[in-house]
Amino acid sequence: MTERPCCVCGNKELDTSNPLIDDNPWYAVHLNCLNTPAFFAFNEKLKRADKDYARYSDLITVGLVIHCEGCGLPHDLSPKGVGFDPTWELYHCSDCATKSEEEINPYDHLEIVNALDNLSETFAMGASWADVGPKVEALALSVNDKLDIKRCSCGGAFSLTAHPRCHGCNSVLIESAFHFTLDLSGSDEAAQE
Ligand SMILES: [Zn+2]
Ligand SMILES: [Zn+2]
Ligand SMILES: [Zn+2]
Repeated sequence: MTERPCCVCGNKELDTSNPLIDDNPWYAVHLNCLNTPAFFAFNEKLKRADKDYARYSDLITVGLVIHCEGCGLPHDLSPKGVGFDPTWELYHCSDCATKSEEEINPYDHLEIVNALDNLSETFAMGASWADVGPKVEALALSVNDKLDIKRCSCGGAFSLTAHPRCHGCNSVLIESAFHFTLDLSGSDEAAQE
C-alpha cells in the first residue's frame, strides 16, 4: 500500500518522524505535507473532480461548516471518535436536538469503540447510512446492557444510531450517527474552542 508517492511533494521515502499516511484510496500524503496550502489546493481540486472523494473529505473533516436544510442555521460538523481522545461521545436523542453527556471510552469498551470505528470508516469510504445503519442498530442492541444510556427529557431515547438535529427547527442535519454538530448561531450550550 505504501508504494504511492506523496500527493504534495511527490516523494516516497518513509521517515519515522514524517510518515506517509496512506489510509484512503485516493492519495498518500506525508504527515508534514498535510495541512499545507499545497495540500489544500490538491484537496479542493480533487473534491471538484470526484464526488465520492468530496463526500469522503467532508465526512472526515473536523469542524466543517454546514447549514440546516430546514431553516438555514449554521452548524459545525465533526466526526466522532477521532483525534487525540478517541472517545465516542455525544449521543443524540432520537427525537430532538439534545445531546447526552455520556461517552464510550476505549479503556472500558475497546470492542465497541473498534466496531464503531470500523463502521464509521466504511461509511466515510462510500457506504450509505441505509447500508451501515442496520449494523449500528445491531451493535447498539447487543451492547445495551453494557451501557447505561439514559432517556432524554423530551421522552426520546439517546442512542448510538440517532442523528444530529438542528436546534432551530429539529431537522436532521446529516444522515449519520458517526458525526456530531455544534450550533454556530450561539444557541448551543456545548463549548466551542
Ligand atoms: Zn510529501
Ligand atoms: Zn434548522
Ligand atoms: Zn430529546
